[in-house]
Amino acid sequence: MKGLCILGATGSVGLSTLDVAGRHPDKYKIIALSAHSQVERLADQCQQYLPEYAVMVNEDAAAKLSAILIAENCAVKVLSGVEGLETIASLEQVDFVMAAIVGAAGLKPTLAAARAGKRILLANKEALVMSGQLFMDEVKKNNAELLPIDSEHNAIFQCMPGNYKISDNTKGLAESGITKILLTGSGGPFRTKSASELSNVTPDEACAHPNWSMGRKISVDSATMMNKGLEIIEACWLFNTTPDHIQVVVHPQSVVHSMVQYSDGSVVAQLGQPDMRTPIAHCLSWPERIASGVAELDLFDIAKLEFEKPDYERFPCLRLAEEAIRKGGTAPAILNAANEVAVASFLDNKLKFTDIAYIVEQTLENLSSRPVLSLTEILEDDESARKEAEKLILTQLDNH
Ligand code: NAD
Ligand code: MG
Repeated sequence: MKGLCILGATGSVGLSTLDVAGRHPDKYKIIALSAHSQVERLADQCQQYLPEYAVMVNEDAAAKLSAILIAENCAVKVLSGVEGLETIASLEQVDFVMAAIVGAAGLKPTLAAARAGKRILLANKEALVMSGQLFMDEVKKNNAELLPIDSEHNAIFQCMPGNYKISDNTKGLAESGITKILLTGSGGPFRTKSASELSNVTPDEACAHPNWSMGRKISVDSATMMNKGLEIIEACWLFNTTPDHIQVVVHPQSVVHSMVQYSDGSVVAQLGQPDMRTPIAHCLSWPERIASGVAELDLFDIAKLEFEKPDYERFPCLRLAEEAIRKGGTAPAILNAANEVAVASFLDNKLKFTDIAYIVEQTLENLSSRPVLSLTEILEDDESARKEAEKLILTQLDNH
């Protein structure tokens, strides 16, 4: 029996995790759940899964949750704040931590899971993008186990040699006989839109992903292809490589979830339905396999698999992310923070879709990145980038 803590239980990945774990009550016990402010949903989850702990980040929301649970006679300890998240990620009875908070907010609790030596099921790519080496060092130092939930990275992991362990990979891809990672992406909802059409798209159009159903932030990232950019950075850290060995491949069907090219000419791919329950089940049960509830893949139904080159002109976020990881230090954290602010502003109907890349690029130009010595540099530069991006957005709005 493995104890499970789900950070971000009310989100898209969180719900899929509960769905998979709920199919195997003999294997997984839900110890702790967290949410930002969706009190009712977390209260329902507490009544259904009876965890020991629930964390609402917001204090008022935590008080409301407590009141509901007391009225329902549901004995769950309610905590609040980032400290609450760090506490549940490090509990002794927790074996596995699903990191499914969206954005920079997930960094501290995910780091706490690494420091406590847990198996980390990493969905929260922003945490790794921000903290890179620091995070990987904590995983290694504390004997934690890092397994990728992001479907592409999970696919790459599945295509690696049988004995491959992420935290042991100190020498890079060549040591495993690998020449390249082929990172696939659907191209998002605007794959075929012209540059001029892109400037008028709405948040709802951006969130209508053709193949995946996801939270709104990552949906916008998929539409700008910043998601693929963040995933290049994520792959660099997870598989100890550089953008030179990563080729983004646009694959509109989202059936091939990524591929690995070996020196003998073999290309190994992982295929499946576009359903996060597959990578979640894989990481929960690894190295074994369990049922996930995902329907079998019907290749006759799919019939065709297509592959295209990515367009760096219409989707400049790809280039910005590559430049940030090449620059290193706090540059990826600055990129991520500016992107979070710009995406929120676009979702709020304030900023134009095409301005997201502009805000990120300007923020990176206006701020200088620096080497990361500790978490301090990351958090400080994250904050400066947020302020700079807000300032740029205000100027941009004045110009419209
Ligand atoms: P979502 O918006 O559906 O859910 C986010 C969760 O995080 C919610 O439970 C919310 O309560 C919590 N949260 C939000 N802000 C918070 C804060 N400030 N502090 C603490 N908790 C907070 O997002 P999602 O689509 O489930 O994505 C979660 C993460 O997984 C993201 O990093 C995303 O990039 C990654 N991911 C998602 C998918 C997917 O299919 N949805 C696929 C790959 C990777
Ligand atoms: Mg992905």
